[in-house]
Amino acid sequence: MKQLTVISGKGGTGKTTVTAAFAGLAENAILADCDVDAPDLHLLLKPTMQEKMPFYGLKLAKMDKDKCTSCGLCAEHCRFRAVSDDFKIIDDRCEGCGVCEYVCPTGAIELVERVSGYAYVSNMRFGPMVHAVLNTAEEASGMLVSIVRNNARDLAEKNKAETIIIDGPPGTGCSVIASIVGVDLVLIVTEPTLSGISDMKRVLEVTEHFDIPALVCVNKYDINVENTKDIVSYCKTKGVDVIGKLPYDDVATRSMIVEKTVNEYSDGALADEISEIWSILNKKLKEVR
Ligand code: SF4
Ligand code: SF4
Repeated sequence: MKQLTVISGKGGTGKTTVTAAFAGLAENAILADCDVDAPDLHLLLKPTMQEKMPFYGLKLAKMDKDKCTSCGLCAEHCRFRAVSDDFKIIDDRCEGCGVCEYVCPTGAIELVERVSGYAYVSNMRFGPMVHAVLNTAEEASGMLVSIVRNNARDLAEKNKAETIIIDGPPGTGCSVIASIVGVDLVLIVTEPTLSGISDMKRVLEVTEHFDIPALVCVNKYDINVENTKDIVSYCKTKGVDVIGKLPYDDVATRSMIVEKTVNEYSDGALADEISEIWSILNKKLKEVR
C-alpha cells in the first residue's frame, strides 16, 4: 500500500480541488482528509458517516471548590491566564499544562480528559474516506492527524487498498509534518504568486528535511507565466520535478458549486491535465521504495 500526501504550504492554492479529483480517478484507494483544523473535502464529497470516535486532546484543569482555600497560587502560576480573579478555571483558556495541579497546596485541582474533536470513518461515492474535526480553539491537531492516518491504514489493510490519498493541512507546522511523515510521495500544489512561491519553498524544506520525495504542480500557471518559470527553475535547482501545470479555468469553481469534482463535471483541458498528473503520480507511487 502506497501513501501520497497533497500539500500546498498555504491555503487557497486549489489543493483540495485537485485532491478530490484524484479521489475520483483513483482505483481502490482510501481518502484521508488530514486538514483537521478546517476540513472541507466532506463538503464536496458528502460522505456518509459509518463510525464516529471522540478525540481526547489536551487535558483540562478541574477545581474542587470545597477543597479550595482561595490562596491564589494557581492564578499566580498559570501562564495562560486560565484562572479567573475569583479562582475559577476558564475552560477555553486552559492548556492542560498541569502547573496549577502541581502548585495547589490543598489538592483542589486535578486534570481530566476532555473531548477535543472527533474522528470519522465514512463512505462516499468514490469509496471509503477518513476524516476528523478539531473543536474550535483546540490544540493538538498533529495528534488528531496521526489518528486519521492510523484509521486510513487500518481501513486500507482491511479493504486491501492500493493507495491512501491524504489531503494535508496548509502551512508547515506540526499537523503538516504529521501528515507527511512516512508517506511515499508528496505532491505540492502551488500557484504562481509571490506568497505561493515563498510557501512552496518553505514546504519543500520540510520534505527535504524528512527525506520524502516531492513533486510539484502549478495551479493557475497562466495567471503569471513569469512566476511559473521561476517555480520551474527553482524546482530544477532542487532536483524536484514539476509534473503539471493547471490552467486557470472557472470550471474549478463551477464544479464546486454543484458539488462535483472537476473531472465529474467536465472533460475539458483542466480535467485532462488533472488526469495526466494523476497518471504520473500513480506511476511514481509504484516506483518509489
Ligand atoms: S491553588 Fe488550590 S487552594 Fe489555591 S486558589 Fe488555586 S485551587 Fe484554590
Ligand atoms: S492546567 Fe495549566 S493552563 Fe490550565 S488552568 Fe492549570 S495552569 Fe492554567
